[in-house]
Amino acid sequence: MNSKKNGLAPISALKYLFKKPHTVRYPKEDLEVFSIKGISPNYRGFHTNDLEKCIGCGNCARVCPASAIEMVEYDDVEPANKFANTMRPTIDYGRCCFCGQCVDVCPTSSLQMSRDFIHSFHPDSSLSPEEEPESVVKDFIWRPDQKHADNPGYLRPEGDLFGKVIDFDRNEPRKEAPSERKLSFAKFVHTYSKEEAEKEATRCLGCGACVEACPNQLHIPQYIAAISKGDPEESLAWIYKRNPLPLICGEVCTHQCEEACVVGIQGEPLAIKWLKAYSSENVLKYQDVVEEKKMEPNGKKLVAVGAGPASLSFGYYAKLLGYDVTIYEAEDKPGGAMMWGIPKYRLPKEELMKDINAILDLGIKLKTNVKIGKDISFDKLMKDYDAVFVGTGNSKPMTLRIVGEDLPGVMQGLTFMKLVNEEKTPELKGKRVVVVGGGNVAMDVARSSVRLGADVTVVYRRRIVDMPAALEEIEEAQEEGVKFVETGVPLQIYGEKRTEEFEYAIASLVPDPKGGRPRPVVNDKSPHMKIKADYVVAAIGQHPNLDFLPEDMQKKIGFDGKHVPVDDYGRTNIDGLFFGGDLSNRRQDIISAIGAGLRAAKGVDLYLASQK
Ligand code: SF4
Repeated sequence: MNSKKNGLAPISALKYLFKKPHTVRYPKEDLEVFSIKGISPNYRGFHTNDLEKCIGCGNCARVCPASAIEMVEYDDVEPANKFANTMRPTIDYGRCCFCGQCVDVCPTSSLQMSRDFIHSFHPDSSLSPEEEPESVVKDFIWRPDQKHADNPGYLRPEGDLFGKVIDFDRNEPRKEAPSERKLSFAKFVHTYSKEEAEKEATRCLGCGACVEACPNQLHIPQYIAAISKGDPEESLAWIYKRNPLPLICGEVCTHQCEEACVVGIQGEPLAIKWLKAYSSENVLKYQDVVEEKKMEPNGKKLVAVGAGPASLSFGYYAKLLGYDVTIYEAEDKPGGAMMWGIPKYRLPKEELMKDINAILDLGIKLKTNVKIGKDISFDKLMKDYDAVFVGTGNSKPMTLRIVGEDLPGVMQGLTFMKLVNEEKTPELKGKRVVVVGGGNVAMDVARSSVRLGADVTVVYRRRIVDMPAALEEIEEAQEEGVKFVETGVPLQIYGEKRTEEFEYAIASLVPDPKGGRPRPVVNDKSPHMKIKADYVVAAIGQHPNLDFLPEDMQKKIGFDGKHVPVDDYGRTNIDGLFFGGDLSNRRQDIISAIGAGLRAAKGVDLYLASQK
């Protein structure tokens, strides 16, 4: 209550009439000149964004305390990489508080601040003041031709991101030297110590750009943040929300998330896969994490065919929803290709079983040595259970289709790997093994053969850079002494009683007009080469084997010999029949299969709810 003072205010204001004004010169100054010369060094000005460098991650919009930034689709920009998008930030200067936090969190440094007073437009921008006056105060843009390029406003301190100094160098886990590791099937990558894991985890910006690249959209920033605060249990709990095979994925995931990690733009990406392995290995009793999510039984029975990653994931999430789950497996152990196809040096069996046992311990019934279609008909499963999930993967090997393929000494990749895992391979010490193929199975065959004492050559029909195998697998194989023949197309296998020689042609590579991998072409002029071979292992892929499914059902679900079409929830054209894993996924890897199992569990739940 200061009514007296307020009443005198007009009189006391008169004294200002005779004071020298502070600001009267500003409107008369040339703003262009003023913005360069006279500006305070702390002035932050308008935003600029290099549209080519921007990856559309949206960090700026998320961090903006004034909600002044909105991501909008730009149709005249090219995505910076396969994980980037064409969304770009726009700003509402009515809200902007010029704090510069958006600049701090920009992973590519595309976003900066000028020291300008006047906001203008990129000449090539699809938005222009004339066309879209509403956008005038919203669009913020890069103007390399303008003065602020030489005289920028607020810049992020070098090496600083998200308000902290980032270590751009990745902390790789310790690995045994190639000369040591190739002597045995022992695991040669040492999981992080607590200090190593926390050091690596603190490099994470928590931006979430990796999540979209993960085929199953794991909670990556959350589980890494839990590691950085020294809590592997919390980290594992985050992983389990979308992945009940954490240690397996920690060891052998295809880690597409790391390709998308924004720290990798200016430095080396986070070792996301190894951090997952750290949490999984350092929680001794998974049950502490898993059990708390159990739900009351709902009286409904589900069955899964095949005990690979898709069915195990399906079983886990269906069990959490209260279903009674049975899994049938044709082999004597669960795990599918993870058990028989992956060598122990990459995935020790005790680690595999740690994950699987935690799932089975929830009360899922596993029935091994049961072949569906032989021991139990598929029709019976459809009758006895409320819904059926098929996750049998691809088990029918593709053949080379060359003369000599039926000779003793010629094997298929997964057959060979099963013998390796059962320790039943023939004596390979001093033998020459030719591996045909360029995928991860080919690398597993080659590196296992090296460990068994063989001299190994991989023959691939394109170049090494075109190989679908993980780069680290290829590099490690090379370090262990595996030889590679590029653009080698198999022609014939020679031998009297068994394989003795392998002949291939050197192909020319023709660019694919659709932008895919180049096509190998063999003609009359292609040179022919021969190498000695005691064994030839064809690791060129597999097809599904749906022989257990009645033919009319195969037709009805649209099986084309390679693929079963399903919707997002794994639903087929037959009520109550769901598919997932390699049979229906575009990407044929473990994490995609886990995602398919998770979605199918939700799909079954929705389906059965609709039947009530
Ligand atoms: Fe961002 Fe990389 Fe951390 Fe993922 S791992 S949240 S992309 S910094």
